[in-house]
Amino acid sequence: MSIARNLKIIKNELPEQVKLVAVSKTHPIESILEAYNAGHKIFGENKVQELVQKYEQLPKDIEWHMIGHLQTNKVKFIAPFVSLIHSVDSLKLLKEINKEAIKNNRTINVLLEIFIANEETKFGLDQEEALEILSSDEFKTLNNINVSGIMGMATYTDNINIIKSEFEKLYDIFTLLKTKYFSKNHEFKDVSMGMSSDFKIAIDSGSTIIRIGSIIFGEREYYK
Ligand SMILES: *Cc1c(COP(=O)(O)O)cnc(C)c1O
Repeated sequence: MSIARNLKIIKNELPEQVKLVAVSKTHPIESILEAYNAGHKIFGENKVQELVQKYEQLPKDIEWHMIGHLQTNKVKFIAPFVSLIHSVDSLKLLKEINKEAIKNNRTINVLLEIFIANEETKFGLDQEEALEILSSDEFKTLNNINVSGIMGMATYTDNINIIKSEFEKLYDIFTLLKTKYFSKNHEFKDVSMGMSSDFKIAIDSGSTIIRIGSIIFGEREYYK
């Protein structure tokens, strides 16, 4: 099956308000161009070096999303062009992104990554840590970042009930944060959840951004 056709099938199933990030990590420039030429403009990568290389080689109207764990010392490489960072998991990282955003004379959109899975390996904040960051005085001084929502990953399992309860928990946390800190801010609107194996459950649970790799580009050599 071609990439263009895969994209078309997925897009036909998406409600209008759900944004599709095509996760192109490990896949070559040619594959991204195939999706681009089919009209898709939003791509996600999980490694800074790969993201920067692809940005440099591909058309400049692509919207690039950083979806992987981000180290503070690498923020500077993506700050000039990144559209949305999904994986912010500390105040320290927020401060660094704000600093680099100022240097680049722009505002950078970010999501707070929330830990919802019962696997040890997943990054992210718990609800308390997210509340702590958002209520801190320091957070209020970060004028060059826009927190537009939250992101999370469900446990890697076949058990639909576990996945569903984790996505519902993420949505509840989104509602709580919105009510408490962003009630007058219409920019706080996104819940990034759902991958190839679980995006339908995610959409049923209120997802606004899904991040899809394998069912567009094919299997990767390695997972994540
Ligand atoms: C790789 C990755 C995805 C996409 O995974 P698929 O199973 O290939 O759809 C989504 N989100 C994150 C954070 C990833 O690292």
